[in-house]
Amino acid sequence: MKNYPQQLDWAREFKARPLFELLEDSAKRWPDNSHMAFMGREICYRESADLVRRAAKGFQALGVKKGVRVGLFLPNCPQFIIAYYGILRAGGTVVNFSPLYSVPELLAQVEDSETDIMVTLDLAALYPQISEVFTQSRLKKLVVAGFGDMLPFWKGLAFKLLKKDLRADIPKDGDHVSFEWLVGQGSDPAPVEIDPYNDVAVLQYTGGTTGVPKGAMLTHANLSINCAQTLYWDPSLNQGEGVMLGALPLFHVFAMTLVMNASTLNGAKIVLMPKFELEDALRLAAEHKVTMMPGVPTMFTAILNHDDLAKYDLSALRSCFSGGAPLPAEVKKRFEAAIPGVVVNEGYGLTESSPTVSANPIIGKQKAGSIGLPVPGTEIVILDRDDPEKVLGLGDVGEICVRGPQVMKGYWNKPEATAEVMQGDLLRTGDIGYMDEEGYTFIIDRSKDLILVGGFNVFPRNVEEAIYKHPSVAETTVIGVPDAYRGEAPKAFVVLKKDHELSAEKLKTFLREHLGKHELPREIEFRDALPKTMVGKLSKKELVAEERAKYEAE
Ligand code: AMP
Repeated sequence: MKNYPQQLDWAREFKARPLFELLEDSAKRWPDNSHMAFMGREICYRESADLVRRAAKGFQALGVKKGVRVGLFLPNCPQFIIAYYGILRAGGTVVNFSPLYSVPELLAQVEDSETDIMVTLDLAALYPQISEVFTQSRLKKLVVAGFGDMLPFWKGLAFKLLKKDLRADIPKDGDHVSFEWLVGQGSDPAPVEIDPYNDVAVLQYTGGTTGVPKGAMLTHANLSINCAQTLYWDPSLNQGEGVMLGALPLFHVFAMTLVMNASTLNGAKIVLMPKFELEDALRLAAEHKVTMMPGVPTMFTAILNHDDLAKYDLSALRSCFSGGAPLPAEVKKRFEAAIPGVVVNEGYGLTESSPTVSANPIIGKQKAGSIGLPVPGTEIVILDRDDPEKVLGLGDVGEICVRGPQVMKGYWNKPEATAEVMQGDLLRTGDIGYMDEEGYTFIIDRSKDLILVGGFNVFPRNVEEAIYKHPSVAETTVIGVPDAYRGEAPKAFVVLKKDHELSAEKLKTFLREHLGKHELPREIEFRDALPKTMVGKLSKKELVAEERAKYEAE
């Protein structure tokens, strides 16, 4: 276990405050600390706070004030962070858009969220889509940034990255403004009065794995408190000294809070990557002496399966915060053995709770396979799935529910959907689990992933954990497929480690030692890769759809 010399100043950090104050405060405390590193360049906290004030002034000139929603359609880049805090400082609300969204998805979210202004980059992958959306939607203004906006050095580099220089095609006036224009309007935005508990800082759309995507209203209090709560169990950012790897996409709630807001709160440097690329991530982690590397489990699996990990000096790394999906106990064990001194700390959260609900205390007891203890000020309650009024005791399996200052105000414009998940101030997560006698919670699965095999409940996660025990397995996911006799049966999709061979029969024989009869996969299919969401979580929905289509065609 490494040393943690500086802990957070809790009296200060747990105060609900306007989110942009995190940056303003850190710029006063650590003006010369690097706030972000991107493509070989760094921006310090002083410069960053100045750019945010300028952006805020520019947004106010475009009409942004309380109640105005501004979208970000950006990959990880400095402009994301500047625009995010700039919108908030101007009094507006941020709406995050996945940079992989198609035109219809963008249109639906623009209309649902009632977004008026969109910030994007002049990249061939982004601008054409958003300009099409612009002509068909309620959007009134587009702010078009270029990689070269803030540091002239980037210009040449950015142009090389572009398939085509789009700048010539982008209008310079009217509905379009450039980022240069935005930050060129002055540095004295009008002050805004923020009520942290009521004012919505971010409309964060849920992944949309089930039904229509919904915008979770996250207030300034929700988000400012949640980044301090998250760091409570994992102080690897050591005030003013931490270095954070920013490989997760900032538009997703996990990175928004942990990578961006928590780093900003703590005066840490964010090493921004537009996309997680294994080799680049490891190289940057070594170069910048990264201390904290948040990720989804698939990222840690990829690192673990690297042929020559030892060539990277990861000695500064203290914690890998794993969230978003279950971390197989085997992966935690193997990772910690591969990089001594590093803790893979599993946390749990969801969009509706800003996101962090719980984590394994890094200074204290870690339990592999557990999502840890609730973060401070948070209560986890297990409710009976058949009788949601009934609170279950320790060890009993039920629906995980959460109460705390990070729980959203509700879904935007969807009172019925809000009423479905909010039982008073208790958020029903749809995840199934139990709490042990020491207060550690274990997730068994999501209720929607449960497989009903001839009347027996099979939790795919149990099956996945057993498959991960086989030394040739790199990655796996298990789903329920239609079965004429039993209703449903488990099917496993498996990716093998490089140069390993394994037959389905051999794997089944191995699994018989670890699983019950109903849990045993009816079928095992080997693949080269498994579908993943934009944030990198293994995604079951494509596989479920494929299997259903196959069944219906039979
Ligand atoms: P999202 O709102 O898209 O971030 O997804 C939240 C969901 O991810 C939760 O409701 C869980 O089902 C899942 N999840 C997040 N963290 C974990 C974890 N550590 N273990 C298991 N499932 C998790």
